[in-house]
Amino acid sequence: KESKSKMPTYKGLEKFKLLDKMGDGAFSNVYKAADVASGQKVAVKVVRKFELNASQDGNKHLNPQFKKRPRVTERTNILKEVQIMRGTNHPGIVKLLSFSESDEHYFLVLELMEGGELFHQIVKLTYFSENLSRHVILQVAQGIRYLHEERGVVHRDIKPENLLFARIPIVPSKHPVQRQYDEEKEDEGEFTPGVGGGGIGRVKIADFGLSKVVWNEETQTPCGTVGYTAPEIVKDERYSKSVDMWALGCVLYTLLCGFPPFYDESINVLTEKVARGYYTFLSPWWDDISSSGKLAKLSPSKDLITHLLCVDPAQRYTIDEFLAHPWCHEAPAPPPPPT
Ligand code: ADP
Ligand code: MG
Repeated sequence: KESKSKMPTYKGLEKFKLLDKMGDGAFSNVYKAADVASGQKVAVKVVRKFELNASQDGNKHLNPQFKKRPRVTERTNILKEVQIMRGTNHPGIVKLLSFSESDEHYFLVLELMEGGELFHQIVKLTYFSENLSRHVILQVAQGIRYLHEERGVVHRDIKPENLLFARIPIVPSKHPVQRQYDEEKEDEGEFTPGVGGGGIGRVKIADFGLSKVVWNEETQTPCGTVGYTAPEIVKDERYSKSVDMWALGCVLYTLLCGFPPFYDESINVLTEKVARGYYTFLSPWWDDISSSGKLAKLSPSKDLITHLLCVDPAQRYTIDEFLAHPWCHEAPAPPPPPT
């Protein structure tokens, strides 16, 4: 879509020419842009520095006089996002190229992910084959492993909207997808798809807006002043990595069947379902997935999901347990004969 004439300009962002709008986050606008000097294509996440503190609904009870006063807070969480991104260097994580600010905005210049959101690909394909799901999910898992084990960081917002394709994926024309993996489309050598087939390119984790450092890798302790830390914090920090594992389970479930494990029109019912971990492998959509033939045993993908969508965080798989699961090491089935 050509919307060049409508591109806004931002004071403080003169080094870049905005080309297209790529995303609307809750608190940000993300544009495809070109570095004017070098021509390099990037993504720029523009975040307003000040935001109304309370929604208009939330202000209803206030007296009119008080209502008029703009109640604003500065988004200091963006600085945390920047700090965490600056500390990361992994092919499964979107790179922050530079950061600047003006009076009104923060500008995060990011590696351009031209392929857009995994979310849109799920909508487009309706669901992913097991091989394709594995190809995507292993890349995300490697990114999470790096964050959890090497950086002591919890992402806390893993979802298909925040998982981005480096290139526009080759969309297979029909299901089930068994297209041979195309090496020329893989840009970074560090990722070798151990499954040997069925890939649609590099996927990276974006949006560190809710991320948090939970573990000091040097001292091997929770962050904060050791000795004064309350038990719930210590416990919380020990288990907080598990929130990403739950989310990974939701993404895997969604990839394989095309709809999320927890859904309800009513937010209250949905909340209750999540709290109880109430989900099912809905028939007929799940009937053919990993049908192992052994009736008594769950198929590998279902077994894996069961260990991720597990209400007790202490029982939930860690990233290492996830990566060791047989499903992650299954070789893809050979492509079907030409029809
Ligand atoms: P928010 O915190 O507002 O959700 P995100 O960082 O998730 O902000 O960005 C919002 C959307 O913008 C993403 O869901 C995605 O569609 C798009 N986007 C973000 N970063 C990039 C990037 N580096 N390249 C391409 N598109 C991006
Ligand atoms: Mg987002």
